Amino acid sequence: MKAKILLIEDNEQNRYLATFLLEQAGHAVTHAPDGPSGLASAGREKHDLILLDIQLPGMDGHAVARALRADPAQAGVPIVAVTSYAMAGDRDKILAAGCNGYMEKPINPETFVADISRHLRPPAGGSAP
Ligand code: MN
Repeated sequence: MKAKILLIEDNEQNRYLATFLLEQAGHAVTHAPDGPSGLASAGREKHDLILLDIQLPGMDGHAVARALRADPAQAGVPIVAVTSYAMAGDRDKILAAGCNGYMEKPINPETFVADISRHLRPPAGGSAP
């Protein structure tokens, strides 16, 4: 399934790797380097999934997730957090902020696209054109 994915990530290398893997799998990726520009991108265009770095300058990923979840226009859009915080309690905090799931950094190039795909809804009505 080809998806439109919004990637909110401040680290250029992480953006590059995630984008490379997703585009190679046929997905379309929109970038945002920080929370406010991510929210602006989400408002401009509907995405199939939002990949959200938690450690962002200024507005962190938890605040971004809460802002997205407060917007009725984003209802149903899956949010997957990407974080190098792996301490106990972080998972709960991420899910409580409104994320549907999370993955740990560094991302694994072997499994990244499959992990993302699990959060994409199957296409409605069967076969795609
Ligand atoms: Mn970051």
